Amino acid sequence: MPSFFPGFIVFIFGVTVGSFLNVCIYRIPVGLSVVSPRSICPKCNTPIPFYDNIPILSYVLLKGRCRHCGDHISFRYPVIELVSGLFALAILFQYGLSIRGLILYIFIASLLVITFIDIDYTIIPDAITVPGIFAGFLTSFISSQVTYKESLLGVLLGGGSLYIVAWTYHLLTGKEGMGGGDIKLLAMIGAFLGWHAVLFTIFVASVLGTLSGLTIMLFSGGDLRLAIPFGPFLALGAMAYLFIGPVIIFWCFNLTG
Ligand SMILES: [Zn+2]
Repeated sequence: MPSFFPGFIVFIFGVTVGSFLNVCIYRIPVGLSVVSPRSICPKCNTPIPFYDNIPILSYVLLKGRCRHCGDHISFRYPVIELVSGLFALAILFQYGLSIRGLILYIFIASLLVITFIDIDYTIIPDAITVPGIFAGFLTSFISSQVTYKESLLGVLLGGGSLYIVAWTYHLLTGKEGMGGGDIKLLAMIGAFLGWHAVLFTIFVASVLGTLSGLTIMLFSGGDLRLAIPFGPFLALGAMAYLFIGPVIIFWCFNLTG
């Protein structure tokens, strides 16, 4: 287990990346650049100085309000920064300071951005998933954990299986159930984690999605028209695979074999 010092540095790195992820979540869906201009308060348009833009800390010091106009800053910003920092730590503990760890951290960061954009807009931007599919496949050549064949099979299985589900759903109901965004997201998950992960992710996402759907139906009086985005469940499934998937698969095979 790494000592305190690298852990602290990695955590700071993670929350700083989290701050950038907030920018991505806010700007990518509306087609703005994630590099420039500087962040502004969405209420009063005042540019946010660097000392008010320190991840988590500034939110606490400013008590969740803009220094200029006093408007509330969304609680989600520090939460995403914290989650990003915790994931960086989790990756460090599981994979150490390694290339594979860095690749997986970038993958998780992309999943976080996709999750919140899908929650906000029910879209999964191609700007992340399409380069993600290629990045996942290419990095399989420099990683020992997922071979390029497993990665390629992951893309085909991820893209193909959801495509069949979407096609069947459309055939049966005449409606568009699953978006193309979900299909590309699962292909990206397959590219990074291999085809085993695709099966695991579909299973976890379906269970979580069904449970959430049932819960929402229960509280909305059975209104089936409420569409819940599926992307966050796929992202959760992939993250579960990353940290506990191999343990669960090993456990299942030991149980049956
Ligand atoms: Zn303001």
